[in-house]
Amino acid sequence: MTIHVRLVDHTHDPMRSLYLAYRTCYSSLTPIEILDRIDDERITAEQMQTFVEERLKTGHTSPLEQCWFEFAISGVTRAFSHQFVRHRIGISFEQQSQRYVFYKGGEFPYTVPETVVRAGLKEKMEDLFKQVGDLYLEMVEAGVPAEDARFVLPNATNTNFKVTVNFLEMLHISDLRLCTRAQWEFRRTVALMRAEINRRFPQLGMYLQPKCGERRMGYCDESVKDWEACPIGRKRPHKQQLLDLFANYRKGEEKPLDEDDFRVIAEVPGGDQIID
Ligand SMILES: Cc1cc2nc3c(=O)[nH]c(=O)nc-3n(C[C@H](O)[C@H](O)[C@H](O)COP(=O)(O)OP(=O)(O)OC[C@H]3O[C@@H](n4cnc5c(N)ncnc54)[C@H](O)[C@@H]3O)c2cc1C
Repeated sequence: MTIHVRLVDHTHDPMRSLYLAYRTCYSSLTPIEILDRIDDERITAEQMQTFVEERLKTGHTSPLEQCWFEFAISGVTRAFSHQFVRHRIGISFEQQSQRYVFYKGGEFPYTVPETVVRAGLKEKMEDLFKQVGDLYLEMVEAGVPAEDARFVLPNATNTNFKVTVNFLEMLHISDLRLCTRAQWEFRRTVALMRAEINRRFPQLGMYLQPKCGERRMGYCDESVKDWEACPIGRKRPHKQQLLDLFANYRKGEEKPLDEDDFRVIAEVPGGDQIID
């Protein structure tokens, strides 16, 4: 089944809300006076954005909790949902119930991962799920309540969510779940959430990156082995490289640029080396 994500509602004007939250901390003006200046354009949209962007470079993150986004998410699996609901701060979930929703005819929606298709095992998986569906139905018809009959259902079963998440948690979830170490379904879902925010609010959407992104930590803190295996890892330094560089700098052991380096710098492609 295809994953669908839609941004269904949000803080009325996220940038205005974030600006007001941050400015209240750093201004002698009252929040209402600040709002008056926004409304009569003594404070422009560009000024608000610049100010918020500067704050986003700092560790002052609590104002980001004041801006929220609501999403409708469907076509994800129970394998995904187990991971999703582990996020416990700054996000509220409503999920389709397997107690109150009964799968008519024993037909439950599910996802077959591409890796299973490529391994040629899709049919076997579907045959098994057909048997599971039949047993589920048999149980329900024998009087077993749906909440118990569901015990036979697989992780592949699809589920739906309505969630509300604040911007701080959205940044954190992106840090972790846009990382190539995260499960593909989670990466795909968060990429779609990011695309929805980006479509409406690109000034905020651009901050939704994996933690190694240039607008987040900027380096990888996973294991060196994982960094080496990451398809985009080489675009970012690994934490250990930064620590080694710092240690060498402190010890005065930084490798100096030498004549060979300057020869490379002065090299004319395809021509003679001319150094004055
Ligand atoms: C690649 C990957 C692999 C994983 N593998 C496993 C696994 O094998 N097994 C497993 O059980 N889980 C696994 N997880 C889930 C992981 O352990 C977390 O439960 C999940 O990422 C939720 O993130 P969070 O703890 O940051 O929670 P959030 O709710 O997103 O919390 C946000 C932040 O709030 C702060 N916070 C939240 N609660 C507290 C608290 N009680 N006390 C202090 N600070 C708090 C923390 O700074 C936290 O980072 C994995 C996650 C990832 C990304």
